[in-house]
Amino acid sequence: MHTQITCPNCGTPYTAEVHQMIDAQRTPQLKQQLLQGQLNLAICPQCGAGGQITTLLAYHDLENELFMIYIPQELNVDEAQREEAIGKITRELTESLPPEQRKYYLFQPQIILSMKTFMEKVLETEGITPEMIARQEKQMELLQTLAKADKDGRDHLIEERIDEIDETFFAMLQSFIDAAAQMQDTDQLIKLTNLRAKLMMDTPIGREMEKRQIALHQFSQEAKEKGLSPQLLFQHVMANREDEGVVEALVTAGVGALQYEFFSLLSLEIEKAELAGNTTDVEALTALREKLLAFYEQMQNAQQQVMAEAMATLDAILAAPDREQALIEQLQQGRIGEEFMAVLMARLSEAQQKDDGAETEGLMEIYTRLQAMSEQQLPPEIQFINDLLQTDSAEAQEQMLNDNEALVTSDMVDLLNRLVGQTDEAGQEELSGRLQSIKTQIEARVG
Ligand SMILES: [Zn+2]
Repeated sequence: MHTQITCPNCGTPYTAEVHQMIDAQRTPQLKQQLLQGQLNLAICPQCGAGGQITTLLAYHDLENELFMIYIPQELNVDEAQREEAIGKITRELTESLPPEQRKYYLFQPQIILSMKTFMEKVLETEGITPEMIARQEKQMELLQTLAKADKDGRDHLIEERIDEIDETFFAMLQSFIDAAAQMQDTDQLIKLTNLRAKLMMDTPIGREMEKRQIALHQFSQEAKEKGLSPQLLFQHVMANREDEGVVEALVTAGVGALQYEFFSLLSLEIEKAELAGNTTDVEALTALREKLLAFYEQMQNAQQQVMAEAMATLDAILAAPDREQALIEQLQQGRIGEEFMAVLMARLSEAQQKDDGAETEGLMEIYTRLQAMSEQQLPPEIQFINDLLQTDSAEAQEQMLNDNEALVTSDMVDLLNRLVGQTDEAGQEELSGRLQSIKTQIEARVG
């Protein structure tokens, strides 16, 4: 539904979309918006002021048998109005469900009075508990303190709060590093990079991650040279089989090679151990096989789900009154990727085979629009320079230059020359210096 709003800041009247019913399975995009704090936002088109609209909000999750209604206190509704609203939402929800899904929990909606509790309950269905959130908040505070601390303060803090430094903490640190790089805040970048280097050395999880990175690097190097194959994955898994974390990282990176052949190599290894009478090995390898089989099935299911989502996205765009607008919205939400293209192409050829004119036309329209949009995107040269700038290790830059030989040309040198000139003029010394260094590397290659 839409609601009429008058901007409290500048007085401009405008309409905003309000959702009062979120269904975890039927409207996952609304759930996503809710979790990202983007649901029911009213932003003034004139001055940009705005915020969350205060509204009653119902949430239904069939899989978790959860039905709750948030009634903000600011709404100031009396008992009778409250009962009526609850009754109306409950009726609308149950009537929209097929009879076999009308279960008892639907008639006992949980009434929630605080948004915080409401969000906690949604997050809990995702396996995220309030304790986890509290821990992450503490970790964030630790990271912010560490980013400002001097060396002694830093070392002391690390020692005192080492338990909070886990993989999540490293992921947060990485996003701080990325942000500093993006904002070209060199001081902060150096400080954070040093912090990461120290944590990699001085914490158990850091050392574990480093070990994993080295193993992964060796694996991907070999995969690049010889091609990814079930045999190659098998060799690396076997070489690291004592280390659960490394094995997990390897099969995730090489998931394309986790196939029948991989499992038969593993079975062969188990047979060998059986013949040799090595019971410890037989047990360890059998456990490994079971674990990897479970992982394999999980990946298969995830893949199916991704495909189903891409299919739903495509259907939504096809059914939209304004397809271009729908396409842009889905693009912004990151739903147009490889899988979407695969589904689109498959549906298109199916429609053509069936001689379904209307479907073919609709799909072609989406395809053409997507192509036009991608042509508007950055030229590859600029994209490549951006990528190079975002990499701070010389080794990684080297690798990127190796991988993109087609872009390493004298034209690129000319382009960089112009960019160096422009950034110099704009007084962006730091950026200009980095462009200059990229230029020198490319010049050396072009000869
Ligand atoms: Zn305004």
